[in-house]
Amino acid sequence: MYFNPSEISLVGEMFRHAEELAEGYFHLGRGGLKVHRYEVETLARLRDHEMDSKAFAHLCRYLYQKEDDADHPDNFYFFKICLQDNRILDAVKRSRPFVKLEPLMLYIAAHELVHVIRFNGREIEFDAPLEEKIVEEDKVHSITRNMLQPVADTEINLVLDCFSSRYDIGDIFN
Ligand SMILES: [Zn+2]
Repeated sequence: MYFNPSEISLVGEMFRHAEELAEGYFHLGRGGLKVHRYEVETLARLRDHEMDSKAFAHLCRYLYQKEDDADHPDNFYFFKICLQDNRILDAVKRSRPFVKLEPLMLYIAAHELVHVIRFNGREIEFDAPLEEKIVEEDKVHSITRNMLQPVADTEINLVLDCFSSRYDIGDIFN
């Protein structure tokens, strides 16, 4: 089950919305998120190891190596937010008519951006041990909740209450 074209454009819209909220919340200034290199990909374009049957998204980190040189000073890491269309659509279907794709996608986008910002800020290491990652998930969830507060309506609050705790298990665990 893949996102259809209109769902894909909704995903793009929700990420743009989440980016604005994150830039405000973290005082990054408009466009300030650009220093955090990341891309978003949907299931149809994921590679095998980027798929996850349990999470709504899987966050992968890659090293860009300049001139194939592992020690090149211009090397950098970038993140790939790998959306699992099937898991997301299934969750919406099962909780119909209460949970809508739009608020759920906004939550997922905001949550993943908080991860990216915190990994890049070295708030936690990407390869941190499991116990640290479990604590990190709780922090990321509560930051995401605060970040969404200015726009939280009934539908968003429902997503925050229904999904976050279950959803959180998975996206940064391998
Ligand atoms: Zn997470």
